[in-house]
Amino acid sequence: MSGPPSEILDKISRNYHLACMKRLTPANSIVSRNEIASWTRRDFVRSGIAAMGALALGGCGRTRALRSPLATGTAADLDNLARNIRGRFLRDGSPLYDEARKVWNLAYDRRPLAIARCADIDDVRHCVEFARRHSIPVAIRGGGHSYAGFGVADGGLQIDLGGFNAVRVDQHRRIASVGGGTKIRELLTATLSAGLYTPMGSCGAVGVAGLALAGGDTAARGLFGTACDNLIGAQLVTADSEVLELGPGRNEDLFWAIRGGGGNFGVVTRLDFQLHPVLTLHFANFEFGWNNIAGAMRGFGDLVRETPDAVRAGFFVNAETGATANCGFYGDAAAAAAYLAKWKSAFPSIEPRMGSSLPNAEGEVWATTSVAVDGAFLEGLDDGVVDVLARAAVTGRGVGEILMGLSNGVASRIAMKETAYPLRGTGLSCLLSAEWKRPEEGERAERWVAEHGVALRPWAHRAYVNYLAPSSADRIREIYGVNYPRLARIKARYDAANLFRSNQNVLPSDGS
Ligand SMILES: Cc1cc2nc3c(=O)[nH]c(=O)nc-3n(C[C@H](O)[C@H](O)[C@H](O)COP(=O)(O)OP(=O)(O)OC[C@H]3O[C@@H](n4cnc5c(N)ncnc54)[C@H](O)[C@@H]3O)c2cc1C
Repeated sequence: MSGPPSEILDKISRNYHLACMKRLTPANSIVSRNEIASWTRRDFVRSGIAAMGALALGGCGRTRALRSPLATGTAADLDNLARNIRGRFLRDGSPLYDEARKVWNLAYDRRPLAIARCADIDDVRHCVEFARRHSIPVAIRGGGHSYAGFGVADGGLQIDLGGFNAVRVDQHRRIASVGGGTKIRELLTATLSAGLYTPMGSCGAVGVAGLALAGGDTAARGLFGTACDNLIGAQLVTADSEVLELGPGRNEDLFWAIRGGGGNFGVVTRLDFQLHPVLTLHFANFEFGWNNIAGAMRGFGDLVRETPDAVRAGFFVNAETGATANCGFYGDAAAAAAYLAKWKSAFPSIEPRMGSSLPNAEGEVWATTSVAVDGAFLEGLDDGVVDVLARAAVTGRGVGEILMGLSNGVASRIAMKETAYPLRGTGLSCLLSAEWKRPEEGERAERWVAEHGVALRPWAHRAYVNYLAPSSADRIREIYGVNYPRLARIKARYDAANLFRSNQNVLPSDGS
């Protein structure tokens, strides 16, 4: 059922040479290197984590084990955990430890206390229980493709869900159920062979949960909503090691929170997605190179202000080849041709490359790299933002890339408070990224992203959280906007000690 990758998917993926600005942040470097060593060499750890946990406990007692003022733990406790879980357990010094702690974005070189490759839900529960009792932060790893490196945390317990990759497709009910560590390629291989599809990102190696829990910058969202909108059920292990079923009528507050709120609320061990028919995408690619990028962006901005739901569109500036605008139309070839004629007449001097394609499970494969990123959700392309982006494009030649993907149709019309995902209304998910291969190139890449990210900030009150480096509490609060207070209350109820904080973190608050 799957065809060759569409050129639109190619272009999107080509622009995912991504990265992160800060290599170590407070959220991800919570325990010092010496303290890690103390687990393995001195049989004893005393970290400041529990003090933070105790502060966070405030009004909620769901994580009572953290009420003690300081965490203690012995290497024997760690041995116990290793014995209790069925999956593989790696510590600093284990032969596979260094390979296993590596994430896609090599800018994040972090050393977890231990890595548990969980084999089943009891393994996950044992890990969470251990982390809670000893006030050790948890890093959840699915596909390992977080730009912010959240799948690994210094001094944390890494819960690796790579083994949770079973996919079950119910063709009759049009539902796919996947394990919490499933990759996009594993999900789509199964659905496409049943003639079905659900909106996902374009790189097959990305984790389904990491993408969908944060919302998703996805194909076909104009017709079907984005990834979190198609999440119809889930299973989650809470900070109290409880296993909860989420969905309509089942733990609805958590179900609301995980649709956009990321990995803040627990370890999601299963996700159920609504499936849709596979549709052909008819597309036109307009390549502008380095000529009049501002003019091309303005033309693109006019075209995407209002679009039929069947439209998928993006604007990309590749560091080597310059700017491209893509428009695709799902479904009927004649309707697509009539619509694409409008784009052709908007760019009369460019002969577009036309074609059609079916969804492809593998998408693009991007080798691990070091990359800096920043993002913005742009409500339109006014002259001010076009100036900023065009300047970024020109100064970024050979260094940085710009990607803007249209969010329209069904994804844009869902009410802001219906799920935690805050990117409603028509807009463009914008990603600035700059990659480096040699350490000496890192500073230039980070500087380009930082400089143009700051220039973009007046238009970046909202952003796709998966397109950001680890971000401040204030930025995350601003991005979630009206949904933040409810997220913070749910966080306080289910994870008051903030065990799950290797993410774009929602701080627990009962609102008092
Ligand atoms: C090459 C590349 C291409 C990309 N393309 C797209 C795209 O087309 N569209 C798009 O929307 N995004 C895209 N992204 C961004 C991607 O969605 C995020 O980086 C996402 O976090 C990756 O998820 P992961 O499971 O692979 O990452 P990981 O590093 O394994 O996980 C990141 C974080 O997600 C959370 N998480 C993951 N799994 C679970 C779980 N089971 N339970 C609870 N929390 C969990 C945790 O907080 C975890 O720390 C791309 C990234 C890269 C590097």
